[in-house]
Formats: sequence, structure tokens, C-alpha cells
Amino acid sequence: MEQEEQKRHQSRGFLSRSIDALNTARSIRTFATGVRLAGATASLLPVWLPIAVVIFILLATFLIVGFTGAPGTPGTPAAGPQQPHPTSPPNPPITPPAAPSDLRQAISGQFGITMNGFDQQHLQWAWDKLWDVSRTNFITLVRGTTITASSDSEQTGCKTIRLAQYGPQELFNVALIHELGHIILNCSKAYAYEQEHAGVWRTEGGVTRYAQTACTYPPQNRGSWQFRSEDYAEMITYYLNPTAWAQTARCAGRQLNPYLNNGYPLHYNLAKKVLGAYP
Ligand SMILES: [Zn+2]
Repeated sequence: MEQEEQKRHQSRGFLSRSIDALNTARSIRTFATGVRLAGATASLLPVWLPIAVVIFILLATFLIVGFTGAPGTPGTPAAGPQQPHPTSPPNPPITPPAAPSDLRQAISGQFGITMNGFDQQHLQWAWDKLWDVSRTNFITLVRGTTITASSDSEQTGCKTIRLAQYGPQELFNVALIHELGHIILNCSKAYAYEQEHAGVWRTEGGVTRYAQTACTYPPQNRGSWQFRSEDYAEMITYYLNPTAWAQTARCAGRQLNPYLNNGYPLHYNLAKKVLGAYP
């Protein structure tokens, strides 16, 4: 299944590139026609007729392709109907719009996530990060969550989180996605692939130092579920923060992102299955 999935992604990438190449060739052809036309205007009037026909055909072709082509963002692979995930959202623009004047309201309206007690800086970071990951299935899987600013971070209920206003931005992004990652496993069970994750965890072990140690738990509270739960959140976190250092909970300094150099391929592929392609 994984190989088929990868092949499909690869072939789609190849297809996109082929279409790009086709479009480029078409642009060059149109440009060449334009140059020829400029030279012809001075004298040969009868030559206009076939050229006009060619232009008409080119225009008609362009219009037909334009209207029947995929509606995805230019330059990005289409993520909608070809994704196997049943909750795939439509493609949003890659670049966030200008910061809304009321960020808290915008986050609630756009992503269905309520953020209580956060300052403007952290609302801005949350807006940017949620927008960034909204081209995946992530938002669909965590919509309805309430996040309350706090002195530390944890999931407190099915769709409630306490989250500290960390800095710098990279650490805040990691913590935000980590806590929301717990929501997927606990509250979007139908799409979480929990059993498959248990197998991945048994095979590859914890994906980060935090997943391996669960260092924030008292030792007597660290059981299989706690390790698997933290590993799941970490699997999601570093898939959606591929340039970030592994630094959750900061209980063991920071390590390189676990997915660098094709690390933890089973975790990576499962995250891709849950969330869809990213970035
Ligand atoms: Zn956690």
C-alpha cells in the first residue's frame, strides 16, 4: 500500500511537471506566432487569413484547457479528490492573506479553533502556522478545539488544550501542533490510524527523544499508552514542522528533526497517510 501510495504521488508530480512543460511549450509557440505577425503586418495581407485561423484555434484550445484544467494552485500538486483521505479539504492558497485586524475572530472563523487569552504575537503565529498546514487534512481533524493560554501545555479534554505562550516562534509552532496532534488520536479516531501507528511505534520506537522518554510524566505514570500517545503527537509535529529542531518539552535539549535524511520512514509515511502531502 505504501509503495502504491508513493508511486501515485510520484506519478502525480511527474504529471504536473509534464503539464508545466506543455504549458511552457504552448507559451513559446504563442510568442513565436506573435513575432511572425509583427513582421507580416507591413505587406502580405492575404497571409492574415491562415494566421487568423491558427490564432483562433490556439485561443479555442487555450480556453478549453483553461476551463477543464484542475483548479489547484499553480505550481502545487492537486491535493483534493486524488487524496485517499475522506476528509480532504479543497486547496487553500499557500500564502496567508494579510493579517486580519481581529486575529482571534479570524482563527475561529477560518479554522474553527477558539484561542482564549493569547497575546497578539501568539495569535499571529498561530494564524500563520494554521494557515500553513491548512493545505493538509490537519484542520479538518482538529476543528472545534478550544485552546487556552496557560503556564504550561497539555490536552485537558477531547477538544480542549492548555498551551503556553512560548518563544521563539519555532518552539510555539512545535507545541501548538503537538497538542493538536493529540486531538487527532483522541478525538478524530476514525481517521487517526491508531492500530497502524501502534505497529509503527513498535517497529521504529519513539520518533523523538521526548517520544522515547515521556519525560514530563511522573515515572509511575509512564505506560504503553503514554508513550504511544506522545509518539503520535510527535509524529504529526515534525511532519508539519520539517525544518524545526526536535525540542518538545525541552527535557533533553534539542535534536535534529527526526525526518531529516529520510529518518523514521514508517512514521513519516503514516503521517503522510493521515494528513496528506506536506509541504
Ligand atoms: Zn504531548
